[in-house]
Amino acid sequence: PPSALGPFTVVLLGDNGVGKSALASIFAGASDSMGSECELYGGEVFEQTIIVDGERATVTLLDTWDSQDEGRWTQERCLQTGDAFIIVYSITDRSSFLRASDLRIQLRRERQGDHTPIVLVGNKCDLVRCREVSISEGRACASFFDCKFIETSAAMQHNVWPLFDGIIRQLRLRRDSV
Ligand code: GDP
Ligand code: MG
Repeated sequence: PPSALGPFTVVLLGDNGVGKSALASIFAGASDSMGSECELYGGEVFEQTIIVDGERATVTLLDTWDSQDEGRWTQERCLQTGDAFIIVYSITDRSSFLRASDLRIQLRRERQGDHTPIVLVGNKCDLVRCREVSISEGRACASFFDCKFIETSAAMQHNVWPLFDGIIRQLRLRRDSV
């Protein structure tokens, strides 16, 4: 039987409205048990065991970045808790792209010297007519900041599982090299 790996904690970062919760709900919907047991803490923390490359991985996904008022998940704690980070912007909103760069810098400051997997995600790629950030800009930003890049559409369920599978592969590589 495949060995259970994890749990890994993956944190969603990014501006309000870029689609973090939409991505999280696709992740949460993967469960056969209709997600009843995978939502913890008011639908902001999702746990799933998924199979990637024939091997199980248990992932806790935090969609807590926008809910700072409750005090349980301060931004500082989010940045310290993650084993990996998904920095999301919307391809239709340049300011969210600039914010993504700020977050990458903040993350580097907070997590100096560790090789935490980070993926830069350009979401809403279905909204082609409203595009404000080109694919090549996204890619260049990711390569500048030394992280992976993918464009997704939560609305069309495009590239969402490749995103999560890719994070798990990166986490395994990192774990295997420690
Ligand atoms: P959050 O604030 O980052 O959690 O963003 P939400 O997940 O709440 O999404 C904000 C809005 O964008 C909602 O109206 C979503 O339906 C919409 N949205 C999210 N992802 C996509 C996408 O990939 N394409 C389109 N067209 N709309 C999206
Ligand atoms: Mg949200």
